[in-house]
Amino acid sequence: MNKRETKKFSEAALALALGLFALVVFSLSGSGSVWADAASAHTCAALTFGTAPSGTTTSGLSSSDFSAENITVSSLTNSHVYSNAINYAVKFGTGSELGTVTFVFDKTYAITKAKVLAYQYSGDGAVSLSFQTSALSSALTGTVTATSAPDISNSSTDSGIVFTGLDNGNGTSSASLTVSSVANKRFNLCKIVLTIAVSSGSSSSQASASSSAFSSSSSLISSNSGSNSPITFNFIEQGDQYTGDCAYIKAGDNDILIDAGNRYNCASTLESFIDDPSRSGDYVSDGKLEYVIATHAHQDHIAGFYGVADSSAAGHNGIFYHYNVGTIIDFPKTAEKSDVYTNYQTARTYAVNQGAKHFTALQCWNNGGNGASRTYQLGNNLTMQILYNYFYDHTPDEASGLNSSFSSSGFSDENDYSVSVLFTQGNKHFLFGGDSEAYAEYSLVKYNSLPTIDLYKADHHGSYTASTDALLSVIQPKLVCVSACVGNSEYASDITHSFPAQEAINRIAPYTNRVYCTTLGTWGDTTAHTPMNGNIIVSYDASSNETLTCSNNTTKLKDSAWFKAYRITPSAWA
Ligand SMILES: [Zn+2]
Ligand SMILES: [Zn+2]
Repeated sequence: MNKRETKKFSEAALALALGLFALVVFSLSGSGSVWADAASAHTCAALTFGTAPSGTTTSGLSSSDFSAENITVSSLTNSHVYSNAINYAVKFGTGSELGTVTFVFDKTYAITKAKVLAYQYSGDGAVSLSFQTSALSSALTGTVTATSAPDISNSSTDSGIVFTGLDNGNGTSSASLTVSSVANKRFNLCKIVLTIAVSSGSSSSQASASSSAFSSSSSLISSNSGSNSPITFNFIEQGDQYTGDCAYIKAGDNDILIDAGNRYNCASTLESFIDDPSRSGDYVSDGKLEYVIATHAHQDHIAGFYGVADSSAAGHNGIFYHYNVGTIIDFPKTAEKSDVYTNYQTARTYAVNQGAKHFTALQCWNNGGNGASRTYQLGNNLTMQILYNYFYDHTPDEASGLNSSFSSSGFSDENDYSVSVLFTQGNKHFLFGGDSEAYAEYSLVKYNSLPTIDLYKADHHGSYTASTDALLSVIQPKLVCVSACVGNSEYASDITHSFPAQEAINRIAPYTNRVYCTTLGTWGDTTAHTPMNGNIIVSYDASSNETLTCSNNTTKLKDSAWFKAYRITPSAWA
């Protein structure tokens, strides 16, 4: 039977992606590159192109900019890369001539649906565009009505201009696609996603042709070493004697913050670090944090989002007031009733009212649309994935559903609600799990296919309740950063459980001795604090080569005076 089905293979195909948030970034080599969008179960390939530097409009495109293994451009007229430093697109047309681009596929595809994300060129208003596949007897037209850049990470098939009937309804395949501006008007094209029909039964050749095309994309990615977008992780000292988390991440052109420090008055310390222009090119030059992640509702992770009252127009100096925020991703569950949490919500609402999008990690995991995605493309071979944690949608009382031997007794803390995030650059991986403890770590291993990890932010500040064997045996960390005020009694009743705890050290030691900590406290003096390694900065360049720098020193934990005084050297470190 030649029963032809449109499978949920959908959204596959060809996505011409010009990163809107400067996410997709133009390859510095100037040639197009293919990347897979692992945002969903769909197999996606995409083509990025152009060489426009931020803040310019350039006519530097050539056909070779569009070349990829399974898609080439055969003609191109009056097309320019458009960039306003925030959004990127290909601008079609001039004020007096239409613009056209024709894409040629390596195989013929039965295209059932197409989504085009485009927006108006300022001043030219709505414009008709012509959409022609080789299977169509006449072109389809659609109208570009959006006046601002659409969200290219939105995988909803029904957003943007949607074309159907591209195969004339009879399964005719197309070998090419031409997009034109109909009138002599300009418009900005951001992304095209084609839905391809997959045949079953004896007509399965189409399906295999499709999948082989996309697996070849994948192999291109892994062979693409030397052209990764760089990523830098900054574990920031928070300026006081308290333990807390704050990591500022520069990923391609994206500025990302995970948690915001331990007390309200940390905000100014964090902002001074983040805004410091002396770290060339590595600060929030446009005042925008593209992504902000709040892992869980504890004070030591969210206080700095609210900050303290100041004389600014916003009236507060917290992260959510100080920066323009693109997307906020936070914890789906909490039982927290503290003022700090209430104030966090107030600050988050302020950011949303200023235009930030807000999603829970569960909405992202479910690819909830409108920008809620499991995977965000941050640059060339550079992604941020929201991992699944059982406690996104279960309470501690339901822990037995995770493992029948788990009991809810003694397990009522917020920590296991933490959002977990995996960054990937080429074949390097970096894991952030907030204050996840044993159960959340177990969940992470159970529900996600975790790779080995090149940089692991020690869960829960190096607590004895975290960095369990269940997690470590899978991720086998090569470098561990502990965000804590080492050795003081804030969260410990005995000195071996001060951060980082002897038990966690013992479990980490077989995998690496490269453990670094931000701040040093004193067991008997709850106000003492001094830099340990200080701000820990770990960078991975375009070839994924790592560079570690610290504001105080790069002494490994095992060689520190504190360790020698208060910890027993594990055999693996002897
Ligand atoms: Zn914490
Ligand atoms: Zn916590």
